[in-house]
Amino acid sequence: MADHALTFGAELVTARVTSITPQLDGLKRIELEEGEPYFAEAVIITAGGHPRKLEVPGEEEFAGRGVSYCAVCDGAFFKGQHLAVIGGGDAAIEEATFLTRYASAVTVVHRRGEFRAQPLLVERARQNGRVDFLLDRVVEEIQGAAGRVTRLQLRHLPSGQHEELEVGGIFIFVGFLPNTGLLAAHADHDAEGYYLTDANMMTSVPGVYAAGDVRAQLTRQVTTAVGDATTAALAATKQVEEERAAAAPRVSAVGA
Ligand SMILES: Cc1cc2nc3c(=O)[nH]c(=O)nc-3n(C[C@H](O)[C@H](O)[C@H](O)COP(=O)(O)OP(=O)(O)OC[C@H]3O[C@@H](n4cnc5c(N)ncnc54)[C@H](O)[C@@H]3O)c2cc1C
Repeated sequence: MADHALTFGAELVTARVTSITPQLDGLKRIELEEGEPYFAEAVIITAGGHPRKLEVPGEEEFAGRGVSYCAVCDGAFFKGQHLAVIGGGDAAIEEATFLTRYASAVTVVHRRGEFRAQPLLVERARQNGRVDFLLDRVVEEIQGAAGRVTRLQLRHLPSGQHEELEVGGIFIFVGFLPNTGLLAAHADHDAEGYYLTDANMMTSVPGVYAAGDVRAQLTRQVTTAVGDATTAALAATKQVEEERAAAAPRVSAVGA
């Protein structure tokens, strides 16, 4: 993709952006960690985000080897296995139900006694014969053998007792953090911090677009990110062309 863009004249700069500030003259000042700032007529933010981690022993060691943060992406690798889903929000409950397409059983482990997820989703999961629940419990350690997850060490919070859960995989849904802190101006966002955009991917800040995982939407996949970015790029190009045409000095024909 990068080579393709370069072929068509894109300039690729590898640097960390520290802030994007809209100026009074309409340009956006893009500050980098090192080096001179850039000034752009339009900016498309595609800074993605990252799943919130449990930060327990074993999580990093077994990432991609039984520890996953994406059911759609990795569920099919766990056919016939017993899985654990960690979390109590919509994503956790929805993904637990989704994972029963592949798993023999899914145990939802949640640190509270009740769920934050919509009751309808919880009810659907309860009715699913392959989903069960371990409430008031936290994961203390992810253990494995031969490079794969095999067991979770849990703690039952009210009693403080330790428990073990044998699983072939653990799917962690305790939040996703969009990288939306770069834009200095206020841009409208949803309760979880994702940018709200119009159909052209423009945020509420004129000339600043958002595409992919930073944007509030139903799905966060490579295909949707690429689609968003295509729309944003075409819309931003149109915006810049129109602004330049409007600003260009008019040439009036003088009759003989
Ligand atoms: C574990 C996991 C597995 C997944 N598997 C699949 C899958 O199989 N299929 C699928 O379709 N989707 C999958 N996804 C989802 C998919 O990866 C994302 O939806 C997609 O990559 C989003 O693209 P993006 O460009 O918005 O963000 P990203 O791909 O996250 O790209 C963001 C980029 O911005 C850069 N960046 C961030 N902050 C700054 C900064 N301040 N300055 C400069 N650069 C910055 C980052 O370094 C990164 O390169 C998976 C996600 C995860 C977490």
